[in-house]
Amino acid sequence: LAVVEIHCRAVFREMSNYIEGEIAPELRERMEKHFEKCRHCTAILDGTRNVVRIVGEVFPLPTNFGARLRQRLSELVKTSPET
Ligand SMILES: [Zn+2]
Repeated sequence: LAVVEIHCRAVFREMSNYIEGEIAPELRERMEKHFEKCRHCTAILDGTRNVVRIVGEVFPLPTNFGARLRQRLSELVKTSPET
């Protein structure tokens, strides 16, 4: 079954949900397919995961962490090349 491709912007938008595991299985599958061939998104995924891990080790995560991460990622998207 073919997986419908999604664009980088959609991946960025869902990045924090993906990392937090709060994402529909179908969307997760689409994002994993995207990561397989998009180094740009893979780099941001790795960087975001590092931030989540480091912050999680030092501070208890605030309840609005996901929202703040999404805002940070949306700032990244503004400076990202359109693909
Ligand atoms: Zn991408």
